[in-house]
Amino acid sequence: MAIHLKTPEELEIMREAGRINARAHAAMREAIRPGVSTAELDAIAARVIAEAGGKPAFLGYPPGSPHPYPATINASINHELVHGIPRPDRILQEGDIISLDCGTIYNGFVADSAWTYAVGEVSPAVRRLLEVTEQALWIGIKASQAGRDSSEISKAIQRYVEEQGYSVVREYTGHGVGRHMHEEPQIPNWWPRRAAAYGWRSVILKPGMTFALEPMVNAGRPETRVLDDHWTVVTRDGSLCAHFEHTIAVTENGPIVLTAP
Ligand code: MG
Ligand code: MG
Repeated sequence: MAIHLKTPEELEIMREAGRINARAHAAMREAIRPGVSTAELDAIAARVIAEAGGKPAFLGYPPGSPHPYPATINASINHELVHGIPRPDRILQEGDIISLDCGTIYNGFVADSAWTYAVGEVSPAVRRLLEVTEQALWIGIKASQAGRDSSEISKAIQRYVEEQGYSVVREYTGHGVGRHMHEEPQIPNWWPRRAAAYGWRSVILKPGMTFALEPMVNAGRPETRVLDDHWTVVTRDGSLCAHFEHTIAVTENGPIVLTAP
């Protein structure tokens, strides 16, 4: 599939989608405290997106699925990695970490970003997992330069995370974003020698490409599994995990973070 290079006008729309998405994140972050339910956080994001004239990108995704996603955000606690379904009876506790993933559609374009937050005080070891995962995201963003090969992003993220003693999740990848939430190219957080066997091909980065980078880092082993609710992904060994994501644009002058506040 050809990769659509966004025009400056389209990039401006995606930037606005990204700003709205960032506002949803900021409002949720303000609300995070022990005793709050993940359903309450979901309602906050839904309200911010609707008030800004956007639509939630995850709700009902993917179209035609027997199990379309039922909420605005993914709220994944502790050993839950991604796609946790918000629930009124899922209450944050002191010392938890929570990964919130949110997507906004605005004027036909999607913005997608995720962040892992500490609930109250967490141990230095947990704090370090969050710092390393966020840093892996920034390393990936820095590698997103026009003229470079997209596999360099994957390799840079993997190298850094593994040097820090953690593992990168294999099954879920960064991805092109535009009129659809998941477009080409796929940008994994690791790069196997036989990437083609996974259906991945690297591309030379060009100005106007837009994609989401989203390192998912496990404190333990890399394997994950999906729970019976068809969505929630957890680490197989029960270890803690973190997830940081921004939607970015490649430009002549370096990467731009479209989902920055
Ligand atoms: Mg996301
Ligand atoms: Mg994504």
